[in-house]
Amino acid sequence: MKITVRVVVDTGDATEPTEVEVLALDREDLAPDTVGLHLAEAHELLGAVQDVLVTAQVKHACGQHRCCPDCGRAFRHKDTKKISITTLFGTVILNSPRYLACPCRPEGAASFSPLSAVLVEHTTPELAYAQARFAAVMSYNQAAALLGEVFPLGRALHASGVREHVHRVAARLEAELGPEETAGLGECRQDGDGLPLPDLPLVVGLDGGYVHSSTQTSRTDGWFEVVAGKSLPTGGNKPAKCFAFVQKIETKPRRRLHEVLHAQGVQANQTVIFLTDGGEDIRDLPRYLYPPSTTWTGSTSRCGSR
Ligand SMILES: [Zn+2]
Repeated sequence: MKITVRVVVDTGDATEPTEVEVLALDREDLAPDTVGLHLAEAHELLGAVQDVLVTAQVKHACGQHRCCPDCGRAFRHKDTKKISITTLFGTVILNSPRYLACPCRPEGAASFSPLSAVLVEHTTPELAYAQARFAAVMSYNQAAALLGEVFPLGRALHASGVREHVHRVAARLEAELGPEETAGLGECRQDGDGLPLPDLPLVVGLDGGYVHSSTQTSRTDGWFEVVAGKSLPTGGNKPAKCFAFVQKIETKPRRRLHEVLHAQGVQANQTVIFLTDGGEDIRDLPRYLYPPSTTWTGSTSRCGSR
């Protein structure tokens, strides 16, 4: 049995839709190893569909910027460069044309490239997310190997590349984090009188742990303390959220918790309960992180409201 997969591209204008064959399969009798698609076939199919899709998108985008919007004259072509875009479904090399600016606009840049203006990043956000997601639960090496096995990336992914992208994502997230001073978690409570009845109390588990250097030369050499927390909404089906920071270097712990709680929809008049083991290293943290919170330590006899 022969099966052919074709992709039809209809741009929606006066041009005829185009049809491209992306995969041809030949199957023998039904058996466990012939049922459905194999991983290699799925890779081939996804990569081929991605090529057709991106080619059509690029052609459409270039067509939209072919003429001057002010006078209607066609831009003069200057040169063409290659742009490489890495996606979850293959690396695509695009011909990126550069045009001379229209004479009716003497001011401004002498040339421009419509594709370069749009495709500033050469890795798609989805691939950046997958790298960060995988690297959050395994080593960079393993993340690179697993991503290459599961997705048709079209090129080898190296641990250093994953690390670089993860750090770039982290830097962007850090830059988006607001100032510590205006986190204003507990202070908002006074303004919450007019709010609807809040959900049940939100519980935040908090604990600290020490990470030691593998090349430690003395007891205090190369170690640092990590504070990790997990916020558990007690009502509805909202998922738990985790956060962590290194006390020595973290400059915005309150802001970090603020973002976690707000992502879970905490209200200004909602009670937040911290659960800790009462260790000296984290005993005072809840009071700083969320002043009106209640803290329950490992022993119920030490339970108290702050
Ligand atoms: Zn013009």
